[in-house]
Amino acid sequence: MKYDDNNIFAKILRGEIPCEKIYEDDFILSFYDINPQKKIHALVIPKGKYIDLDDFSSRATPEEMVGLLKGINVVVKKLEISTDTGKGYRVLSNISEHGGQEVPHLHFHLFGGEKVGKMVQ
Ligand code: AMP
Repeated sequence: MKYDDNNIFAKILRGEIPCEKIYEDDFILSFYDINPQKKIHALVIPKGKYIDLDDFSSRATPEEMVGLLKGINVVVKKLEISTDTGKGYRVLSNISEHGGQEVPHLHFHLFGGEKVGKMVQ
């Protein structure tokens, strides 16, 4: 499958549509989900053109991989849901059809701010 440059997160990355930004650096952009499923529902996306986690894991550079994981850590600290605060959160990535992925640009959902409940419903 080829990366679709017209997906909504690609448009957000290009600044063509707005987002409620939480954090940005050379590797990632983080913003609030438009349809929050929990008290805190943030998204973290890599700046590179990757469809999903499989695509990222096979093609991303080591720098991009480190940048993504470190970026998630910065975001959860900023949101005050990291283990430093004694709270915690859930990170989730939907992959392709069976995973229920809607937007074909790799993204991690961060859920927190309250107990997030069962792992899968
Ligand atoms: P997924 O089903 O894992 O692909 O999740 C896509 C997520 O993107 C959903 O939780 C949507 O609510 C969210 N979403 C879609 N469009 C936007 C947008 N313009 N800004 C922020 N979040 C969005």
